[in-house]
Amino acid sequence: MRINLSSHDLKAADHAHHLHPFTDHGTFGIDDRKVISRADGVWLWDTDGNRILDGMAGLWCVNVGHGRSEIVEAVRAQMSELSYYNTFFKTSHLPVIELSKMLAEVTPAHMNMVFYGSSGSDSNDTVLRMVRSYWDIMGKPDKKVIISRKNAYHGSTVAGASLGGMGGMHGQGDLPIPGIHHIEQPYWFGEGMQSGMSEADFGVWAAQELDRAIEELGEDKIAAFIAEPIQGAGGVIVPPDTYWPEVKKILDKRDILFISDEVICGFGRVGEWFGADYYGTTPDFMPIAKGLTSGYLPLGGVVMSDRVAEAFHNSAAGEFYHGYTYSGHPAACAAAIANLEIVKKEKLVERVRDDIGPVLQKFWHALGEHELVGEARMAGLFGALELVPDKSDLAKRFANVGRVGTIARDHSFKNGLVMRAVRDSLIISPPLTLSEEEAGLLAKAARKTLDDTWQTLK
Ligand code: PLP
Repeated sequence: MRINLSSHDLKAADHAHHLHPFTDHGTFGIDDRKVISRADGVWLWDTDGNRILDGMAGLWCVNVGHGRSEIVEAVRAQMSELSYYNTFFKTSHLPVIELSKMLAEVTPAHMNMVFYGSSGSDSNDTVLRMVRSYWDIMGKPDKKVIISRKNAYHGSTVAGASLGGMGGMHGQGDLPIPGIHHIEQPYWFGEGMQSGMSEADFGVWAAQELDRAIEELGEDKIAAFIAEPIQGAGGVIVPPDTYWPEVKKILDKRDILFISDEVICGFGRVGEWFGADYYGTTPDFMPIAKGLTSGYLPLGGVVMSDRVAEAFHNSAAGEFYHGYTYSGHPAACAAAIANLEIVKKEKLVERVRDDIGPVLQKFWHALGEHELVGEARMAGLFGALELVPDKSDLAKRFANVGRVGTIARDHSFKNGLVMRAVRDSLIISPPLTLSEEEAGLLAKAARKTLDDTWQTLK
């Protein structure tokens, strides 16, 4: 790297010239930032000489771990051969064909076609346009409304943020755009517990919100339901066991499409290839990104069912006016192929389901005993700890939501572990290559973080 500055001067230059995503710029001082300079496996190093366990796999994406020379070499070779060509105007290229074939093998049997972009957000823009075009092709142009859920995260573009259910995001830029309707989320700890229902009944009730919305808005107006199998950025909301079976029943009897947003859950995070496999749902669309390349290069896409692909193939509607310069970028596809080869060769999906998943879950549930923790939940390697002021009364919450979560997250960094705070919960989503020893170190740093936070609050 050419830049040769002290750690402090790097931070000052970053402060002077770089506007960060999802940041309160008014309070983000020079020394609040960490400059990451190197990574290997599950470990990060910063320019102050700290070694930190990457408990978030970057941003829920570095599934095969950092520093994989197989991916670096595959990208280098592809860039020497064909660094860029587009997939518009009836052209294709080798890596996009190879990757599409590979995806058809690992996605559910009824899904064999993919449309590419560069991120999860633009995949959800694509999905919105495809869903509405599908119904136009089918001669039902009134089916336009997409039902989503409160607290969902589907990206940051105008369509992505509108599909998402984050109030803060909607408050900036006059969102959501018309034609999107948000229903309740299946958040037992956050909302269900206070309802007086059992967890199982709450799961059914939250699922039936979908049916009630379809009734209210009219099935002839509804194009699709979009949901993350487990809400990620919303706080790793693992739904009650009754939720997805009930949603499935509703989807089976209603004439609407189902979009399973697999941007985080896909590629092994929950111990199956996709969240749809984990919950036994049958999507018409799966937006994918993150674990597709493990973040080595930006690549996203929308995998679609045979019935959708057939509709587009048989359409007399003419050209589908949609695509990106980097749809199916050759180097990004080469990164994805090498990444998926690692996932298969090292049996990472099975490893999460049968080996490292259960190991980390055991450590995680033990943290649930801590006096600061109201609930410890985890599916695969995807978990949250809900922090509470009074363990003897789980309905109580901290005043000033988010303050304690932020204190805990800052302690975690100091303890050499990246965890993310969502409201007053702590989140992890480590690389799927995490070893047993590293799982132990992660749990130890998380416990110290809880102890330190407890002390700070005293
Ligand atoms: N969908 C889900 C479920 C996500 O978690 C994210 C990002 O975290 C996105 C979409 C947006 O992906 P990207 O940040 O690559 O645009």
